[in-house]
Amino acid sequence: MKVIWAPWRMAYIKHSRKPAACIFCTKARGRRDADNLLLHRGQHGFVMMNLFPYNSGHLMVAPYAHVKSLESLPAECALDLIQLTNLSLRVLRAEIRPEGFNVGINLGRVSGAGIEEHVHVHIVPRWNGDTNFMPLFAETRVIPEHLQATYRKLRARFRLADTHDGRRRLSPGRRPKRNAKPIS
Ligand SMILES: [Zn+2]
Repeated sequence: MKVIWAPWRMAYIKHSRKPAACIFCTKARGRRDADNLLLHRGQHGFVMMNLFPYNSGHLMVAPYAHVKSLESLPAECALDLIQLTNLSLRVLRAEIRPEGFNVGINLGRVSGAGIEEHVHVHIVPRWNGDTNFMPLFAETRVIPEHLQATYRKLRARFRLADTHDGRRRLSPGRRPKRNAKPIS
């Protein structure tokens, strides 16, 4: 039997009660980015931490558009999703130095998507041997760092990345302009 490794499925199993509204849309529209663990706002999408991480630094990248699947996204939004994913990888490499990543998208409930109405990319940092202490069916998991502590460190890195890129990206807490030019 082939086993597909899908860590983000656990959050769905453990927290299968649906919230009333889409959490991605709600958090993107909100203004309290720190409370919402929203790390970075791009042109067409944003990066946030997973409230129920499978590993330290488990991030999610989502478009502002509330669409179910990748192929529903306009090309510039799809491109921004990849660029935000790349930025997240760079930030995670710099801050928490993982040895690898699982990057993936679950489309449809049957694939393990916890929130199937709003497409999102999971980025899970991996370290050698981390599966040794990851119980598959445990009720709780021990995450080494408190989420808010990780949030503060990663947010600082995202801001630093903006400066190093020499490009003016939108920082957390700012709303994207409707007619702003795409990030090149
Ligand atoms: Zn949504």
